[in-house]
Amino acid sequence: MSQQECLFCKIIKREIPGEIVYEDDQVLAFNDIAPQAPTHILVIPKTHITTLNDIEESQQALVGRLTYIAAKLAKERGFAEDGYRVVMNCNEQGGQTVYHIHLHLMGGRHFTWPAG
Ligand code: 5GP
Ligand code: ZN
Repeated sequence: MSQQECLFCKIIKREIPGEIVYEDDQVLAFNDIAPQAPTHILVIPKTHITTLNDIEESQQALVGRLTYIAAKLAKERGFAEDGYRVVMNCNEQGGQTVYHIHLHLMGGRHFTWPAG
């Protein structure tokens, strides 16, 4: 899929709607359309990166920033101390369905490992 057709690039460009909860020059965060927890936010880089396998060395800080913003949102929403889950899926066996990297931030319920 080309970057022009990428769903999350379209949300960044406001070509399709998203419930945006955070934005800066590098990062966008918005509510997942099919939440798996009371809070389920997707944190994405504004630069199109297709999968985790495509991260370049120069993008390490940008990808690190996704985790920093996730923790900031968790603190602001009051569940940081209780705990939460962050997930990044890669490719078909990893369960990736949207090919623009995204960090899932899920909070507000108890999680078990590895299922659920
Ligand atoms: P993945 O399976 O690739 O790790 O996660 C993709 C996530 O994107 C899923 O949790 C799915 O619910 C979410 N998603 C898919 N399409 C849309 C959309 O159009 N808007 C929003 N906000 N989330 C979407
Ligand atoms: Zn994209």
